[in-house]
Amino acid sequence: MRILQKYRMRTPSTGREVIVEAQPGVEYVDRETGEQLQVIAQLLPVAPTPSELPWAVENLRFCNHCDQLAQKDLNDCPVCGRRMDPLET
Ligand SMILES: [Zn+2]
Repeated sequence: MRILQKYRMRTPSTGREVIVEAQPGVEYVDRETGEQLQVIAQLLPVAPTPSELPWAVENLRFCNHCDQLAQKDLNDCPVCGRRMDPLET
């Protein structure tokens, strides 16, 4: 069972987005710029939930670094944090 709620957060200056399992009362900052991340959206399903799939399978891809599922609209893998190769069109 996942207890922590996942949030989509954005770095204001770069527009870079990450998925964070946020703990209450903790501030999250961009690891490169040190800026405080802005919360963009709460991911569904809302915690607590046994699901780790915030989106449908059609919208997921495999990270080319860690081979875990990641959302297609992300540039950086939410699991290992590395930049994924561009999607083939
Ligand atoms: Zn990865």
